[in-house]
Amino acid sequence: LTQSELSVAIDGELRTGRDAALSVWDHGFLYGDGCFEGLRLFDGRFFRFADHLARLQRSLRILGIAHEVDVQATYDVVCRVVAANELTDAHVRIIVTRGQGTPGIDPRVCPSPSVVVMAYPMPPLLGTDPVDLVVSSVRRKAPGSVDAQVKSLNYLDSVLAKQQANAAGAHDAVMLDDAHCVSEATGANLFVVRDGVLRTPTTRSALPGITRRTVLELAEAAGRRTDVVDLTVGDLYTADECFLTGSGAGIVPVGSVDGRRLPASRPVTEWVTGAYGAATRGSELTVPADGTHRF
Ligand code: PMP
Repeated sequence: LTQSELSVAIDGELRTGRDAALSVWDHGFLYGDGCFEGLRLFDGRFFRFADHLARLQRSLRILGIAHEVDVQATYDVVCRVVAANELTDAHVRIIVTRGQGTPGIDPRVCPSPSVVVMAYPMPPLLGTDPVDLVVSSVRRKAPGSVDAQVKSLNYLDSVLAKQQANAAGAHDAVMLDDAHCVSEATGANLFVVRDGVLRTPTTRSALPGITRRTVLELAEAAGRRTDVVDLTVGDLYTADECFLTGSGAGIVPVGSVDGRRLPASRPVTEWVTGAYGAATRGSELTVPADGTHRF
């Protein structure tokens, strides 16, 4: 199916082609006023569906968007979209905007949120080979600005950082925070490994990624040492290994940072890739053939 043939759900109604659209008066379009989730369907199974919806609910609370996420109802809509598009492996995107209103920032002009559910095929965002990173001069949104817990529709820091990566011939960029510590990549969290310890920045300015949490949990369950800690650019340059994590990206080995090559041997990254692959294949929530799955 091409993009125009893919079904999406808008406020629960399946639509395709030119009907698969929101109004240009929607404040999600006018002001980036909204938030979203991105999760994966692997071989007919959703990975950590309820955790993604819990994060969506937190985003909505922080933005003060009056939409209660009903896990069962959302699951039913997502399953209808997945089935309509005949997908077994997909990226699922759930977007909730402030809704349609007259122009003007005041959210009170929007009586009801818009809810969009999309599901489409997507290969791992950055591929599976080691990627080259640059450290961007674009700072991640400061903690006192849009809270990093909000997976908001405003990705402009990531967009600008990605353009710097493109200009440098790299695959992706790392953003620092207002204290010059490592925050995250443009659409993925970051880990470094040193002396066998898996280290990742706090979520002070980085999205609390569900893949990041999964990697921390898998490592801890396997008796590996983890550390959630401030990291400097020097920590990237001197890492034994470095990798990115995300629903869209998966586990991505990092080959170089600012042109400095990291060691070619990546035993911990390889272990994480295997453990994450097994975890995603073992997720329990499947798309029901008869739509009867209940939480
Ligand atoms: N950081 C950013 C900025 C992202 O867009 C994403 C992708 N959602 C992530 C991190 C990774 O989060 P997750 O593992 O929940 O997909």
